[in-house]
Amino acid sequence: MNRIPHFVDGARTTVIEAGGDGRHGEVFDPATGQVAATVGFASAAQVDAVVQVAARAARDWRDVSLSRRASVLFAFREIINARRDELAAVITAEHGKVLADAAGEVQRGLEVVEYACGIPTLLTGGFSENVSTEVDSYSLRQPLGVVAVISPFNFPAMVPLWFVPIAVACGNAVVVKPSEKDPSAAVLLAQWFTEAGLPPGVCNVVHGDCEAVDALLDHPGVRAVSFVGSTPVARHVYQRGTAAGKRVQALGGAKNHMVVLPDADLDLAADAAVNAGFGSAGERCMAISALVAVEPVGDDLVARIVERLGRIRTGDGRRPGCDMGPLITAAHRDRVAGYVAAGAADGAKIVVDGRGVPVDGDAAGFWLGPTLLDQVTPQMSVYTDEIFGPVLSVLRVESYDAALELVNANPYGNGTAIFTNDGGAARRFQHEVEVGMVGINVPIPVPMAYYSFGGWKASLFGDSHAHGRDGVHFFTRGKVVTSRWLDPRHGGVNLGFPTQT
Ligand code: NAD
Repeated sequence: MNRIPHFVDGARTTVIEAGGDGRHGEVFDPATGQVAATVGFASAAQVDAVVQVAARAARDWRDVSLSRRASVLFAFREIINARRDELAAVITAEHGKVLADAAGEVQRGLEVVEYACGIPTLLTGGFSENVSTEVDSYSLRQPLGVVAVISPFNFPAMVPLWFVPIAVACGNAVVVKPSEKDPSAAVLLAQWFTEAGLPPGVCNVVHGDCEAVDALLDHPGVRAVSFVGSTPVARHVYQRGTAAGKRVQALGGAKNHMVVLPDADLDLAADAAVNAGFGSAGERCMAISALVAVEPVGDDLVARIVERLGRIRTGDGRRPGCDMGPLITAAHRDRVAGYVAAGAADGAKIVVDGRGVPVDGDAAGFWLGPTLLDQVTPQMSVYTDEIFGPVLSVLRVESYDAALELVNANPYGNGTAIFTNDGGAARRFQHEVEVGMVGINVPIPVPMAYYSFGGWKASLFGDSHAHGRDGVHFFTRGKVVTSRWLDPRHGGVNLGFPTQT
């Protein structure tokens, strides 16, 4: 059985020389249901050993010039660009999403690397001459040291790439703890970063479960933690990490609403609802899971979605023509199917039932087809809970105000979208909605790398969003210098051309 290695001090390794109890997990191919590999779970002592490697590397890396750091990032960018299909295949093999979707994930991660290539510009400070007579003042930002990145299963390459390139560009060393369900993409990226010229120890990957996470949260050598995952774990990470004195950004779960006003282009809205509800089998933190139809458009919109769902092919993401892959594990598939049953029991109408969907793939895969529930009410568990699967719930309301109230009453605030042809209504929505990322006739409004990604309320603990300016700020700390140089020699008269020394 293939053992997925950690990546420590510039090399793949299945052994970390420090006390471990040999615990490990299984990594599945979700499209066949078979165990494809195993992955070791690091103990607290092993995490400590990796943090110490990173701490040693950080001491030298912070002194490497900005131009040299940028050149490593440019080289990393070239490797990802040249080998993007290889990375996409690794993602699909362990996550299950279709290859085109995996390639899209790689592209969005690559854009953060490209953003980080501009680190010399991003780290420019401020300078004020003569804040007092012959006294100058200037500000700079310095790296933190060792930072940890803890990532979820649903974007095994993109989420590490939201943080690692910027953290490294800022002069930090990183310890990544990827999801134990699909850990290989992070290892491949760390290896490519090293091939790009990153010194050993600056980017490490250690595998594990909650024991490794808690070890990172408690470790005095880890200065900051970037976490992405479900809300209960995000809350835990934020509380434990900040209690240990760390800077923490913990991005959590979501329940994203798409509001369709009566004047919307219903074909555009139906396409968007299908793409955003069922892409990646609904396992996206920006997936639309609640479709809010402002009457009288409900019946028409549902009919157009049903027509489109008839054309979605569920199957093995490696096979051409498949639109939607399996869910990540059998347990998760069963949990999502359980929500469908609960929705029906609560009075929702199952318009399209993904249970028992015909599949273009191995029967033992973790399948559940696109599912559409209508007449969902805010009290039902299909609405209150994050399902994280291919289940789209339609709620019907009578007015824009009722739609807005519904979105704002929800405890999550990651993404939302409004579909309308009324610019005034759209502008009102962007102003009034309590959600961090808003789409106007755009169903998945994921910000570009040069903006920052983050939700509100239970979708993010901490005050820094991911990447963009927030990312640079998160991975550095400010320093202001006030300086006076009174040179008693002051050089006298010298008509020579001034040169730098
Ligand atoms: P998860 O919370 O189960 O796991 C995330 C990470 O935390 C993994 O590395 C895992 O090993 C670790 N972990 C799990 N349980 C833990 C515990 N009890 N203590 C400490 N660490 C623990 O999330 P997941 O199932 O991998 O990912 C899906 C979730 O992530 C969804 O809720 C989704 O909305 C969310 N997500 C959010 C965003 C965002 O930007 N807000 C992006 C992607 C995914």
